[in-house]
Amino acid sequence: MPTGKIKVKSPIVEMDGDEMTRIMWKMVKEKLLFPYLDMDIRYYDLHVKHRDETDDRVTTEAARAILQYGVGVKCATITPNQDRVREYGLKKMWKSPNATIRAILDGTVFRKPILVKNIRPFVSAWKRPITVGRHAYGDVYDNAEIRVRGEGRAELLFTPVEGKPIRMKIKDFKGPGILQGIHNTDASISGFARACFTFALDQKMDLWFSTKDTISKTYDARFRDIFEAECKKNWKKKFEEAGINYFFTLIDDAAARIIRSEGGILWALKNYDGDVMSDMIASAFGSLAMMTSVLVSPGGHFEYEAAHGTVQRHYYKHLKGETTSTNSVALIFAWAGCLRKRGELDGTAGVVRFADRLEKAAIKTVESGIMTGDLLAVARKSPSNRLVTTEGFIDAIAERLQRSLGHRKDSD
Ligand code: NAP
Ligand code: MG
Repeated sequence: MPTGKIKVKSPIVEMDGDEMTRIMWKMVKEKLLFPYLDMDIRYYDLHVKHRDETDDRVTTEAARAILQYGVGVKCATITPNQDRVREYGLKKMWKSPNATIRAILDGTVFRKPILVKNIRPFVSAWKRPITVGRHAYGDVYDNAEIRVRGEGRAELLFTPVEGKPIRMKIKDFKGPGILQGIHNTDASISGFARACFTFALDQKMDLWFSTKDTISKTYDARFRDIFEAECKKNWKKKFEEAGINYFFTLIDDAAARIIRSEGGILWALKNYDGDVMSDMIASAFGSLAMMTSVLVSPGGHFEYEAAHGTVQRHYYKHLKGETTSTNSVALIFAWAGCLRKRGELDGTAGVVRFADRLEKAAIKTVESGIMTGDLLAVARKSPSNRLVTTEGFIDAIAERLQRSLGHRKDSD
């Protein structure tokens, strides 16, 4: 009967967060991880007050630590708005920690639904998860906009460091309207393409990429061409050997095909398309809290997190002393993903096995009918379904995990 803890060889970068997810984060560590693992954790507290106290340096330091150690795990965090500045008495509206971390790691975000037998996807054809690979740079998220007040000419102007400026008419306005400028860079698109090919090969699934290149003949076409060139140069052979395919199609064609597919695909999407489609895919599979999310940098650094936010409404209930039933599955999977990757990079099979068992314990708990409120609402009706509290849910997973690891209760 195993009694000693499993040694995690190299450091893990841990980023703590806010509100209800911070409460669950602590429980997950204390009940599911610390009893079994001997970890060297580099802890960064991204609680909104601590970010404020450090003028947000803590976020930058955490991102740099991921660059150093390769693997990190992050709790959900508040992105301050005016209300939050008042609520927490912040110095200013700090940037989203995710945006800061992405800017440093230069990554692509992969989001994959977590499937359980008693929650059927709303799309009946889907048998395997559909992963969305979202480019996390540029386009409408880094735009310049003008509200046109009256008649006039709108032009696109590029002034190169060397050579003549390029000028192009957009529109002769006859009256009021709106105007927007967006951009992307070859370097970022190439990084996005490499991250998607790497991820698809790692997970052994087909890669689809879609844009609107028939309409956007320069902008979207550049994305298509960079993906195509990257495929030919570095991946075609590896994909053939792994028995997987790269497939490019128009975004509207892809949207129609994805509904009829069986799933098991990585769908790479531009920033806005990925934003919209990942929420559609997540809710079509059941719940926002049943979705994994990992940021993969072109340099091979990994940051795991939950796809949802800090679950503010539940936190306020918790503060009032009311019972909550908040789902910790995405947080548990973030830790499992991070541990599995750490184990793979370190070559420690025991750590990988632990990660598998942790995920399995969470899935089996839900499949046994023990569920939080969000899941009960969408699960197949069964007499064994039982609503549990936030802590009761983690306790049920802990019990199952303990059994699967062969620990007797009194041996811990
Ligand atoms: P949210 O925290 O994702 O919650 C939205 C709603 O979804 C909740 O009110 C809840 O619905 C349901 N939900 C989400 N996760 C759940 C879980 N684990 N278990 C059960 N239900 C869950 O989004 P939000 O309320 O818009 O944002 C709250 C804060 O999170 C904001 O300050 C935002 O800045 C931050 N945020 C952070 C991240 C991140 O760090 N990655 C991402 C998004 C948002 P019901 O209330 O109906 O039960
Ligand atoms: Mg969104």
